[in-house]
Amino acid sequence: MTQSPIEVPMRSGLCSVCASDVTFLDTGSRSIRENYACPVCDATLRYRHQAAVIVELYGVKPAASISAVARAGGFADLDVYEPGVIGPFRDLLASAGSYIQSYFWPDVPTGELHKGTSARTSRP
Ligand SMILES: [Zn+2]
Repeated sequence: MTQSPIEVPMRSGLCSVCASDVTFLDTGSRSIRENYACPVCDATLRYRHQAAVIVELYGVKPAASISAVARAGGFADLDVYEPGVIGPFRDLLASAGSYIQSYFWPDVPTGELHKGTSARTSRP
């Protein structure tokens, strides 16, 4: 059995992060995944694809965005780990039962907290 790919509009349509119906902005990035940003929430194609997969896995139909899933409490029973400290998901995933981020800072020993956040260091 094969699964159909999750479709995400590239140039215009509903943003899978904030649910705005927009024309996505060509940022001029050479990387397609870092381009086509939402003019409302700044999510690039990379984050919009990630959000679409999260909505597919955890959304209650017909949730159209990761914002809608978060507002509906769809992450409340989850323990979420995000390997990174930037991007449009931080505030949305903070509604999870637990939410841990990690990032690699070369001058901070693995496992220590850094910059007063819950972020932890890890090796890439
Ligand atoms: Zn958006």
